[in-house]
Amino acid sequence: MNREELILRELHLYPLWKRREQAVPDAVTVAAKKTTMLKIENAENKIQENEIPVSKTPESKNLTDIHSFDWPQLKSAVKNCTACALRAGCTQTVLGVGAERADWLFVGEASGIEEDAQGEPFVGQAGVLLNNMLTAIKLKRGTNVYLTNVVKCRSFENRTPAPDEISQCLPYLERQIALIRPKLIVALGQVASTTLLVREGSLASLRGEVHDYHGIPLIATYHPAHLLRAPQNKAHAWQDLRLAVATMQSRAVS
Ligand code: SF4
Repeated sequence: MNREELILRELHLYPLWKRREQAVPDAVTVAAKKTTMLKIENAENKIQENEIPVSKTPESKNLTDIHSFDWPQLKSAVKNCTACALRAGCTQTVLGVGAERADWLFVGEASGIEEDAQGEPFVGQAGVLLNNMLTAIKLKRGTNVYLTNVVKCRSFENRTPAPDEISQCLPYLERQIALIRPKLIVALGQVASTTLLVREGSLASLRGEVHDYHGIPLIATYHPAHLLRAPQNKAHAWQDLRLAVATMQSRAVS
């Protein structure tokens, strides 16, 4: 059993995650090309908290000053937020979990029923799978990793959050990113990917390359909840994780 197979077995996915012939180009090659294009070797110096724009939501008094919040202010604001209809259907808001200055940021869509009950993102079976994905790339929940969602409340019956709900909640995520200052963002699922990249498109069309979020490289991949329903996509997700690791490594040596 080679090293990659050992890692996949650590994910409890081996031998399911078999690489396909038409898989995306070699992760290291893609990463080197994209990181050159993005000139991310200069990004770390450029990423200052206030360089990341914050959406303005003048229709909501609660959200207008988010761009200047520190962590205690942000936590309080999210805890007490009632800016959109989602709040009426959830038990509590869930801001995120992990190191508040982390190199790695993983962004999902919204809380599910278990996240809503426990007040932490990515718990339950999807959380177990995400933990295994982190382990496979030598990461650990809470250590140099921050986990959050685009919207901080549970979506009714797990439906996709509506555009107005996303736009209401987005300033919180933008402020989180400004405070965390990650070196790389992994967007989990189509909602997180299209929201952060401000573009339309299927997840399939967005994954397999390094995008740019205001100077921070961003990798789009499948949400672990989707992977539980569609395990045939785990091989693609593994490719994306390899691309993320290669991108981070290329930043470390530049
Ligand atoms: Fe506030 Fe976001 Fe919850 Fe809507 S989803 S109530 S904007 S925290």
